[in-house]
Amino acid sequence: MAHAQSVQTHLDSTLMQALTRLLGPRLSTHPDTLQQHGHGESHHPPQPPAAVAFVQTEAELIQVAQWCHQFRTPMVAFGAGTSVEGQLQCVSGGLCIDFSQMNRILEVNNGDLNCVVEPGVTREQLNLHLRDQGLFFPVDPGANATLGGMVATNASGTTTVRYGGMKHNVLNLNGVLANGDTLVTGSAARKSSAGYNLTELLVGSEGTLALISRIQLKLYGIPEQVLAARVCFPSVQHAVTAVITLMQYGLAVARLELLDQGSLRAVNQYCGTDYPQQPTLFMEFHGSTALVAEQAATAQALCETNGGVSFVATTADDEKKRMWHARHNAYYAALAQVPNGRGWVTDVCVPISRLADCIDATQADLQQEGLSIPIVGHVGDGNFHLLFSIAPDDEPGLQQAQRINQRLIDRAHGMGGTCTGEHGIGLGKKTYLQQEKGATSVAVMAAIKQALDPLQLLNPGKIF
Ligand SMILES: Cc1cc2nc3c(=O)[nH]c(=O)nc-3n(C[C@H](O)[C@H](O)[C@H](O)COP(=O)(O)OP(=O)(O)OC[C@H]3O[C@@H](n4cnc5c(N)ncnc54)[C@H](O)[C@@H]3O)c2cc1C
Repeated sequence: MAHAQSVQTHLDSTLMQALTRLLGPRLSTHPDTLQQHGHGESHHPPQPPAAVAFVQTEAELIQVAQWCHQFRTPMVAFGAGTSVEGQLQCVSGGLCIDFSQMNRILEVNNGDLNCVVEPGVTREQLNLHLRDQGLFFPVDPGANATLGGMVATNASGTTTVRYGGMKHNVLNLNGVLANGDTLVTGSAARKSSAGYNLTELLVGSEGTLALISRIQLKLYGIPEQVLAARVCFPSVQHAVTAVITLMQYGLAVARLELLDQGSLRAVNQYCGTDYPQQPTLFMEFHGSTALVAEQAATAQALCETNGGVSFVATTADDEKKRMWHARHNAYYAALAQVPNGRGWVTDVCVPISRLADCIDATQADLQQEGLSIPIVGHVGDGNFHLLFSIAPDDEPGLQQAQRINQRLIDRAHGMGGTCTGEHGIGLGKKTYLQQEKGATSVAVMAAIKQALDPLQLLNPGKIF
């Protein structure tokens, strides 16, 4: 879908005056602020907005949307800026709405195991707040993202294999439409068959359908015991076969992550660790002390049957932290492989029975291209990432990554998978959306966009 506006590098002066009256110093046109808000963590060139509004309340947000609608000004929502598919580039200029100061935790309902938060609350902030009440929110995309950004990208991560991703954990959303009208999508009830599922419509909509102003989320009790383990394999094929066995056995694994040999090499260099440089599964079990011990013993036996060696398990907090620190630093370790390298990350997701074949074929492709690119995966979900690091002026390197990405996505599609398990479409995967869903499905999406935002003001140029 074409985005109609020409690039608005300056806001209308009447609009600027109104926004300044409303927000005072929380409206910024400082060049550094504009530059910082014109991109996320992707390789796409920055495209800054004309101004940034740091909203603090839903009332301010509604007013800002009404004025932007009146002045036909594009609006791009900004959370923590960690998205990786070019979701934040202000391709039509306009106003960036930064939610980082709209970050209050409004309710924690212990009895119902849910909470209500503003969109700028980060997942670490929420979990810190919940810890003393014996509760936690499980979705963990690695980065300390905002919950608004996580809703908007349908984020998932290391714990999705057990607790699901964002779409499984959002009960209700309050949203502000492009014209300033407000909507409520769900309720505090755990399930509902009332009408179209507007909650899931907004989850993953990347700021193109509504500005999310309030989020009600499911919560979970902190398990009595958390046991982390890692085990090495002679090949990715062995590791993934072990994963399939663990899943088929019905083990209640709460995290199940693969780092290939290239990732562990990068992690060892970056973190000063000495993990064996072999495909390795990192896993975690949640439950009673007896349950996790039993599950870990079964996992060890199943892994060893599939060629796993050097199984290490721990319930000690500092050792668990060290283990997951390695996993969470895999991205930065990959970046550090190239001086001044910029992240070029892609993710696909396939049915788990095809995962080993997909990773094998991808590794062979990389080898043929003469590259050693780290592969990490939320393998319990059939999801994995390639972590390219490309120097800013390395145009051939960029084109090579694009070619490999095209083949990766063709491969995933050929196996019944998707071009993105969790990072979204943004600018980066627009062409693959059509390839994956077909013209009719994309036309339906475009019709929904047209119905909710006929002037194409919300995050123009993304998804379509
Ligand atoms: C090291 C690293 C590891 C990562 N690992 C994972 C992973 O495992 N799983 C995963 O899913 N992602 C991962 N990501 C990507 C990223 O963390 C997620 O996409 C995250 O959900 C983005 O949240 P954010 O707050 O940074 O949003 P932003 O990047 O600021 O915005 C993302 C999108 O959400 C929209 N948006 C933000 N706030 C709102 C709002 N209030 N209303 C409407 N739209 C809004 C924006 O317009 C944009 O389209 C990783 C990123 C990094 C850097």
